[in-house]
Amino acid sequence: MLRETTLEHAVNPWNVAREQFDRAAAYLDIKAGVREMLRNTKRELTVNFPVKMDDGSVQIFTGYRVHHNTVLGPSKGGIRYHTDVTMDEVRALAMWMTWKCATVGIPFGGAKGGVIVDPKTLSRQELEHLTRRYASEISILMSPEGDIPAPDVNTNAQIMAWIMDTYSMHRGYSVPAVVTGKPLEIGGSLGRADATGRGVMVTTLEALQVMEIPVHDAEIVVQGFGNVGSASARLMHDAGARIIAVGDVFGAIYNRHGLDIPSLVSHVQATGSVVGFPETEPIDKAALLELECDVLIPAALEGQITRANADRIHARIIAEGANGPTTPDADDILHERGIFIIPDILCNAGGVTVSYFEWVQDLQQFFWNDDEIDKRLGQIMTRSFRDVLGVMRDKGVDMRTAAYIRAIDRVAKATMIRGIYP
Ligand code: NAD
Repeated sequence: MLRETTLEHAVNPWNVAREQFDRAAAYLDIKAGVREMLRNTKRELTVNFPVKMDDGSVQIFTGYRVHHNTVLGPSKGGIRYHTDVTMDEVRALAMWMTWKCATVGIPFGGAKGGVIVDPKTLSRQELEHLTRRYASEISILMSPEGDIPAPDVNTNAQIMAWIMDTYSMHRGYSVPAVVTGKPLEIGGSLGRADATGRGVMVTTLEALQVMEIPVHDAEIVVQGFGNVGSASARLMHDAGARIIAVGDVFGAIYNRHGLDIPSLVSHVQATGSVVGFPETEPIDKAALLELECDVLIPAALEGQITRANADRIHARIIAEGANGPTTPDADDILHERGIFIIPDILCNAGGVTVSYFEWVQDLQQFFWNDDEIDKRLGQIMTRSFRDVLGVMRDKGVDMRTAAYIRAIDRVAKATMIRGIYP
């Protein structure tokens, strides 16, 4: 199972992240050395570790934890379990976390982790063994003051609970603030499960206003029906929009009259996929992205909208629930065509925002109610959207570049104020 870090994606996310950085940094007066620092990661850990399997054999897995930047605070970022995880992907995701936290103004830096594994091939016990061993391996980087993981693709609240427990066993006392996205019973936050989707909804409603599209007329397409995709779809459905198509790794479904999202959520819980949902037409996964609609919400993986299909995207707004779904050359084509993009570092920042609330609550051992969390999240997402829109209009750039300008400026200024050690 040992694998070298190779660039397996047609699109290398690290190149994408750096190009996005370079485009925005060109608008800012940043010293060359600081710019170089910001376009590189701070520290990178690769771990090759053994896991005892149910049949008594031992398998070796490879995982990563990368800190991109910690100038504004402890580094924060999810852990992904996927067969396509590479060091370059983790680097990109860590950098995006830095800009995301700075875009919404929360006092964290950026990190990310990943393990090369398809968790669906593991038993529950093997998944627990793998998680606990990986958590031990990266514990040299992890702490409530230093680096706080969270869920990402194919990881969930149970996996966060095992990470919290493993770290706590090493310490000899409970340390809930070491990880976010935990179950409520052990210091998780109300609202965390829906937080990313709620942020997608808040920013999408803002974008609909900018584009003068009434929410009741809005037709929405969602790629990915996991944590982010399903919550985004459900909350947009509750807000009165029509979700006309949804896809996951197994396939896609369409009904131009709109899907009953609560029933679809039950169907996915029962069957594991959106495929086969009654009164829908199966459609091709790639064709899903090209449907005529008002809002396309990519909520699966990076590199989905590229030069190869950007001409065929027929959405008026793209709300990036996923990290890195659009490449820079696709951005140019979409911008030219007048498609409004809510960039990932703004659109999906609701998750890290409520993770921040969870961390604050754990440190204080004082917990907030649902209303308080949703209200504070709504305020942060709305304010951030409007601030980025202001930069977009002032500088005459697209929304992504505007968000990056704001985020990079914050981190660069903080770096200069702190000074270069020693
Ligand atoms: P998840 O594992 O819960 O769900 C992923 C979904 O994408 C699944 O429905 C899966 O079937 C689908 N999918 C995977 N590969 C696909 C493919 N090739 N084509 C179509 N669908 C595919 O993951 P998640 O936590 O919802 O994360 C989704 C995206 O959102 C990722 O880019 C992640 O980094 C980003 N994100 C997640 C959070 C969070 O709080 N979980 C926060 C911010 C951003």
